[in-house]
Amino acid sequence: MGEILDALHRLQSVEVKLAKIRQAGEAKSRRVELHGRHARQFEEKLEQLKGVIRDHQIRIDALTLEMTTREETTVKQRVELSKAKTNKQYSAILEVINTTKADNAKLESTILELMESVQRLNEEAAQVENEKKEQIDRVATAERALAAQAEETDPERRRLESERDKHAQHLSPEALATFQRVAQRHDGEAMVPVVKLNPRREEYACSGCNMKTTLEVVNALQSHDSMLFCPICGRILYYDDAVVSRR
Ligand SMILES: [Zn+2]
Repeated sequence: MGEILDALHRLQSVEVKLAKIRQAGEAKSRRVELHGRHARQFEEKLEQLKGVIRDHQIRIDALTLEMTTREETTVKQRVELSKAKTNKQYSAILEVINTTKADNAKLESTILELMESVQRLNEEAAQVENEKKEQIDRVATAERALAAQAEETDPERRRLESERDKHAQHLSPEALATFQRVAQRHDGEAMVPVVKLNPRREEYACSGCNMKTTLEVVNALQSHDSMLFCPICGRILYYDDAVVSRR
């Protein structure tokens, strides 16, 4: 392997380790986000329930007031009833009193239904509140795990980063940029060896995506110290005697 490919190769081994650290951190970040999203969903549901409870309560208050007003009217009408001079007058007032009584009975049952509904909604809200709290607890746990992981891997990450910078010095900015781009696309695995598909035939493949590689490319890899890419997956190919006929 030539100098450039050799430097890239060393860079690659560092990049893979760095990618693993990064991925572990990302997985933990995703847990924080997930529980945060769930907590917000429960919060929205809770607000919605509280809104319905408020509306119910306003209706209960209005209907109770209406009932009280009617009852007060009925008290006055009963006084008038006792003062009625004719039978006709008496039955007219009595009819009004009875109608009011029937209306109030309907109002009362509506109020009771609403109160029962409020009780059920309050129970549901309490449950949603608990679920929200549970998710908030999980966010805190996930955040602690993320911070612990970052703290634990920090020295190793710094060491690898300085190692990466050291290897990068041996490469041109263009080669480095290309390498970084490919590494990013393949989780740090920018370089892969070509492998021989059949021991008796000169057939090779990219070991990253298993697609065939032309003989020209394989020959070039053996004779030139330059970056050649798999036309299918875009990884940087290299030729290594030790791995070429491994399978
Ligand atoms: Zn490939």
